[in-house]
Amino acid sequence: MKTKLKITFPASLTDTPLTYLLIKEFDLKVNILKADIDFNNVGHILYEFTGDQGKIQSTIEYIKSLGITCESIKSTIKIDENLCTDCGLCTSVCFSKSLSIGAPDWTLSFDTDKCIGCNHCIPVCPARAIKEA
Ligand code: SF4
Ligand code: SF4
Repeated sequence: MKTKLKITFPASLTDTPLTYLLIKEFDLKVNILKADIDFNNVGHILYEFTGDQGKIQSTIEYIKSLGITCESIKSTIKIDENLCTDCGLCTSVCFSKSLSIGAPDWTLSFDTDKCIGCNHCIPVCPARAIKEA
């Protein structure tokens, strides 16, 4: 199964070779969807892990034991259906095809499993219907 984990490193731990440790210790298939360090030197990584649920749970516990914040997420965005006008603009920047619109009802569909957390859809929404989760 695939699981997305949002990781936040305190500034004191940003040099931890976490990806290396996880591959070595847990034999998981690891895909880094996004990584950055903010102005406060806090590190952020969005991982997608493929492996059995037991290993992924052990991985979460291991990461937390290092003092690193770790949460399982479905997606980095949420869509307010009350604000969305189904204009379809966001689908044009969603390269993972997580956002789509089409016949027969021409309303926006969001497949959280395909979302890679790029957040490119947030600024293009004229209705401000898309927010960070
Ligand atoms: S965050 Fe990126 S992948 Fe996810 S829905 Fe928005 S554009 Fe698509
Ligand atoms: S750009 Fe905004 S209003 Fe348009 S379909 Fe996407 S979420 Fe809805």
